[in-house]
Amino acid sequence: MENLKELASLIESSEKIVFFTGAGISTESGIPDFRSPESGLWNDKNMEDFFGIDNFLNKPEEFYELFMRKFEMFLRAEPNPSHNFITELERKGKVLSVITQNIDGLHQKSGTKNLIELHGNITNAYCLKCNNQIKTKQTFNMIKKGINPPLCPVCNGLIKPDVVFFGENLPAKALDDAVEKSKQGDLFIVMGSSLVVMPAALMPGYAKSAGVKVVILNKMPTPYDSMADIVINEKLGTIIKNIKELIDE
Ligand code: NAD
Repeated sequence: MENLKELASLIESSEKIVFFTGAGISTESGIPDFRSPESGLWNDKNMEDFFGIDNFLNKPEEFYELFMRKFEMFLRAEPNPSHNFITELERKGKVLSVITQNIDGLHQKSGTKNLIELHGNITNAYCLKCNNQIKTKQTFNMIKKGINPPLCPVCNGLIKPDVVFFGENLPAKALDDAVEKSKQGDLFIVMGSSLVVMPAALMPGYAKSAGVKVVILNKMPTPYDSMADIVINEKLGTIIKNIKELIDE
């Protein structure tokens, strides 16, 4: 409780909060994360192999078959109180940036504007040949009509989901922006990340070295807990409900 009070007063006094979010912020929207022991997303296939760029390029038909089965639910998910809490703070002018590793697009759906998506966004796709942009929903409609792998309506090139695969670089501008914003805030709050995926997980370290206070809100311990100013290992839904009550007091 002391930690919660301290966090509430830090949020109240800060004007340039940087949020850094991971799959754990979206589990309460019904999207499983990758690393919780009870996660059901990957019980039969290793995710790094599946999301390997070579796997996609070599076997796009097989990739799309499983991708649609496992990931179509991402498109139907809705933001939860944790996404909305961030958006409300942004509307009050207290948020410098939201850096997310998530690909589910839920921060955008919630209305967050200053967003850096380090790993792309699953709702979008593009043609590898002519860069034509299309919606993932359209690619699923093609597959349902028997066109697998989905092909570009303009040039017949292979369509790829607009997410960063293992073996691909992160978008350079997004990564540069994330590093800069991490250093420029007055409070850096991690929400729902195991902080093991590189280079995204380096951001709390950049913040800390620039003198920014670091808070980690995650159900399970992370490798960066010892350098954080506040750590709360609890479900985000519970933390956010309590924080909102303290801030609204
Ligand atoms: P991760 O799966 O490695 O870790 C998630 C962390 O969140 C875990 O430590 C878990 O204990 C914690 N967590 C889960 N539910 C929580 C809750 N309700 N409250 C508090 N903490 C909770 O996720 P990561 O660190 O984001 O890295 C995984 C990679 O997988 C990222 O690159 C991400 O793009 C991708 N991914 C994204 C989604 C998504 O977009 N929603 C889902 C799965 C994986």
